[in-house]
Amino acid sequence: MGSGKFHRGLPQSAPVNAGVFYGPHDLRCEAVERPRPGPDEILIDVAYCGICGSDIHTFHGSGGNVHNRPPGPRVIGHEVSGVVAAIGDQVTSVKPGDRVTCLPWMTCGKCPYCRRGAVNHCSSKRLLGGGFAEQVITVEGTAFLVPDAVPLTRAALGEPVSCCVWAHDLGQVPNGAVVLVVGAGTMGLIMAYLALRGGAATVIVSEPNETRRALAATIGAIAIDPRQEDPIGVARHHGDGVGADVAFEVVGRTQTIETALGAVRNGGTVVVVGVADPDARLSLSPYELYRREITLRGCLTRRNSFERGMRWLRHEALDSFVTHTFPIERIGEAMQAAIHGAGGKVLIAPNGAVP
Ligand SMILES: [Zn+2]
Ligand SMILES: [Zn+2]
Repeated sequence: MGSGKFHRGLPQSAPVNAGVFYGPHDLRCEAVERPRPGPDEILIDVAYCGICGSDIHTFHGSGGNVHNRPPGPRVIGHEVSGVVAAIGDQVTSVKPGDRVTCLPWMTCGKCPYCRRGAVNHCSSKRLLGGGFAEQVITVEGTAFLVPDAVPLTRAALGEPVSCCVWAHDLGQVPNGAVVLVVGAGTMGLIMAYLALRGGAATVIVSEPNETRRALAATIGAIAIDPRQEDPIGVARHHGDGVGADVAFEVVGRTQTIETALGAVRNGGTVVVVGVADPDARLSLSPYELYRREITLRGCLTRRNSFERGMRWLRHEALDSFVTHTFPIERIGEAMQAAIHGAGGKVLIAPNGAVP
């Protein structure tokens, strides 16, 4: 695959179509200036870019991650797969024609967090967006090679899978564990998959959306509707009457975090993977936290889980989590499908269908 494969013969100076976010509920497909890579930058022909829960927050102008991002207009989208079109002089990690997926942020390498290896907390972290476009720029060190046999549709799950790998690490799931996953959006489904493949004997997934429950059941989870069955009761039933060893909350709401806290056994761990509203507050009994020895952990995507994430992309089972693909011209419709729980991951294909 050579550079410019997806350009449909356009000259390099021609504008590219992109999904431009102007402000809450105002996302337009527009022609924008074609990006040019600087010396340490990589130009990528975007094959697919997934709509993330955080993009939905951005679209609504609410929820986590919105307050620390620049206001519109800007091209959003960060779950990119594609083919390297061009590289700057200083780039050595990839070459034109390489199939890649991207880490959507870069770090300074100098601050106290970077020096500790906790790069996800970098004090001058720079967010790299712009994936809902025919082409996107990323920076040396943030493009990861996609294994040959992996289709670029699945490779667009590279970022969410890598986030989930880190969340799974934090859960320290014991072999034979009972795990509860609250919420079965794409991230919840991936968490359930990693838990099942990572030693859990029983994975319960609580999700009101029927399509998502069906996807969870397909990979071997016990899928329950929280409106019909109490997740805490089900976790206790499967967990020797005391509860789940680990619960992953993948919704980002107070109520679902409280469900996760109630569902774990004494000494259990709750990992909050979902992105909550910054103004939301939990009601938590410090006495119960003490008496029950609960571990409550936050989880922010981490650079060091990307290599392992690339290996998980070899798993064909992940394909079922991608349920919708839209051309860039229909980005508004795609966003509505994602908001209204279309099922699994909604992808934008800015250059049409790509193998
Ligand atoms: Zn994401
Ligand atoms: Zn730093």
